[in-house]
Amino acid sequence: MPVFQEEYKNIVKKLSTSNTTLVAVSKTKPVEDIEALYQLGQRHFGENYVQELVDKQSVLPQDIRWHFIGHLQTNKVKYISPFVFMIHGVDSAKLLQEIDKQGAKHDRVIDVLLQVHIAQEETKFGFNEEELMQVLTQLGNDHAHHIRLRGLMGMASFSNDHDLVRNEFRYLKSIFDACRTLPATDQHFNTLSMGMSGDYELAIAEGSNLVRIGSLLFGSR
Ligand SMILES: *Cc1c(COP(=O)(O)O)cnc(C)c1O
Repeated sequence: MPVFQEEYKNIVKKLSTSNTTLVAVSKTKPVEDIEALYQLGQRHFGENYVQELVDKQSVLPQDIRWHFIGHLQTNKVKYISPFVFMIHGVDSAKLLQEIDKQGAKHDRVIDVLLQVHIAQEETKFGFNEEELMQVLTQLGNDHAHHIRLRGLMGMASFSNDHDLVRNEFRYLKSIFDACRTLPATDQHFNTLSMGMSGDYELAIAEGSNLVRIGSLLFGSR
């Protein structure tokens, strides 16, 4: 069995003291691996690709909470909107509008996180601070009833430089705190999704309350 059960138990134990949600990132991994963690009690799973998520959702237990953590194209929102639990990587106003529209179609309110670009790599997605403030202001005026703004998501630089990564997380936490005081956010804006296999402990120390962990649980991809 390729799932690392001992590592899973260690991580769950570590997170329990800080009230942090674990999203097990199962992209590219077979449904058997997901079932193995499900048997241990894991319910939050994260996927990056729409087709893969749709296929897995249709055959796995219906009480799994699916997080979409990849880059989402507007024309694909419709495939995941009937069931997705939370969409992490929202990085445009257009995408927000489409999620709201699809939420309305399915009579759902869909939880979303806005992605902020905090890393040095240009290839990563997300708003900068100024764009983020613009989107939040716009949202405050839009009355989008079928999305619920739950917080922010970010990915630090892929680097061994702990100070660099720590500063990026700290920066995101400061933006998160600032957002919470804006009229466009309410008490539901309480989720800060940051930290992966290589940096989740650092992320929690800097204020994360949701970590997305793949390779530590399922092995390398
Ligand atoms: C793949 C992925 C993860 C998990 O990465 P690991 O290093 O395997 O833990 C987390 N977040 C996002 C957005 C990802 O694409």
